[in-house]
Amino acid sequence: MKIGVVFILLFLTINVFAQKKIGKDIGIWEVQKGEIITDSQYNNTLGSQYWTFINELLPHDLMEEYVQRFRIYTDGEEGDLGGMTPMNESNKDWQLEIDIADLKLEETDQKKMVDDQHTLIHEFGHLLTLNITQVEPTNDEYQDDTKGYLTSEGYARKDSYLQAFVSQFWPDEILFQWDKIDQMKNQKKKEKRLFDFYLDAPKSFVTDYAAESPEEDIAESWTYFVLDEIKSENTIKEQKVAFFYNYPELIQYRDEIRTKLKYIPKDYLMSFRVKYED
Ligand SMILES: [Zn+2]
Repeated sequence: MKIGVVFILLFLTINVFAQKKIGKDIGIWEVQKGEIITDSQYNNTLGSQYWTFINELLPHDLMEEYVQRFRIYTDGEEGDLGGMTPMNESNKDWQLEIDIADLKLEETDQKKMVDDQHTLIHEFGHLLTLNITQVEPTNDEYQDDTKGYLTSEGYARKDSYLQAFVSQFWPDEILFQWDKIDQMKNQKKKEKRLFDFYLDAPKSFVTDYAAESPEEDIAESWTYFVLDEIKSENTIKEQKVAFFYNYPELIQYRDEIRTKLKYIPKDYLMSFRVKYED
């Protein structure tokens, strides 16, 4: 049997302004101060159950402050798992969306429960690192190096987590190399090149998905920070996980989420394996 290496993208997306709708709607709700408004045409009970499930895990303050819309959808199993997306250019209003074919409320399989926790903590990581206090909206299309790292949402502020993360872990030559791949128009080729970019330095990224961009890298590293206990800092990926210990408020979020985890995986970072497809 011929084994072909295919980069399996488990998208945990941050699409610009939720322009590109992924999958089929199951329900969309407005959220006000952390509560979903259950007067929609959709299955409000199901929406409430999902919303409660998510809020039983994630810290409430940021969710209350920023999440204004909640969407459940599906594109079938795997593929796209969920997203945290700004709804406009302000970086103040965000939409959280979850694929309910991947995240099932009655899940009993331990591995899948860990995957579900991973997805939610990852999405929270985007909110944590890209909200208005972290990223300043801009009209610049191309990065002005004097202003810092340019995300789809704007420039990472000088004292932001992302700017510190990029300064520490994405030196200019790596950023340049990644940017060249990121500009590629052919999606399939781009995915292949991004996977090669990961394979060039597997000890530098917590997962292959982390090599997708600095924004995904910080969200993935944050997820491992919450889910794992790092024992050494010999590799760059371990240093990326340990990075968050520099911030007392992030240690607090970590502690808070960990008390709510249904299952804490063992040696989570070390047990990560790249998925290949036959
Ligand atoms: Zn993501």
